[in-house]
Amino acid sequence: MKYQIIANWKMNPLLEKEALSLFNSIRKKAEKFKKSEIIICPPFLFLFLFKSKISKNLKIGAQNCFFEEKGAFTGEISLKMLKNFKVEYVILGHSERRRYFGETDEMINKKIKASIKNKINPILCIGETLKERRENKTFKVLERQIKTALKGISQKSLQRVKLSLAYEPVWAIGKGKSCSEREIEKASLFIKKILAKLYSISFLKRIKVLYGGSVNEKNAKKILKEGRVEGLLIGSASLKKEVFIKILKEVEEI
Ligand code: PEP
Repeated sequence: MKYQIIANWKMNPLLEKEALSLFNSIRKKAEKFKKSEIIICPPFLFLFLFKSKISKNLKIGAQNCFFEEKGAFTGEISLKMLKNFKVEYVILGHSERRRYFGETDEMINKKIKASIKNKINPILCIGETLKERRENKTFKVLERQIKTALKGISQKSLQRVKLSLAYEPVWAIGKGKSCSEREIEKASLFIKKILAKLYSISFLKRIKVLYGGSVNEKNAKKILKEGRVEGLLIGSASLKKEVFIKILKEVEEI
């Protein structure tokens, strides 16, 4: 089993040369990291720069997409377009998209269906806000997010892609303090339990559960081991080459 180590660059960096330098420094070392499947998700613009540089161990992903294929949708990018850029993954339902761009579970469901149609692997982000956690609604929220996002999606159609679910408690994103390994483990087991209600147990092996939220070089290994997750979605720490490479080194030691 390879761990999925996903870099979510968000709206960074500003310059093409910075993006190339960051990507190339990871690319130089990527083949050494046998235990990871590295997926870099830059802003759309930079996908063009990286499409000829991907390898078995180093893939590119988009941070979002639109579910329609083409037409009068100003400002949007379709999965069909992404396919032409050798994009193999797409992050869907990130909490920043839900919060700032009004994405709903229903929209995310349509995007997942479109990603399956185009054979682009969806990375579905789910997670509770601080308010929801304080009100003891974490599991309820996770269940709603998973069931709505996967509504009407059969096991047969999911077989066309590799689905990952990233547990990203909203209160732990970009805060410098991650969720405890015990809490991550609880959420990961709960997510698998919900998936087991939707799909067969043998099929679940194909679905990876990841964690995201203030992952860094100090906590990455512990989260993977004790949190019982099969990968990490990394925001700010993925923008610092030394730190991101350190995380990949830590993964090799598991
Ligand atoms: C994210 O954006 O998905 C994320 C986990 O960010 P950070 O690692 O900065 O908390």
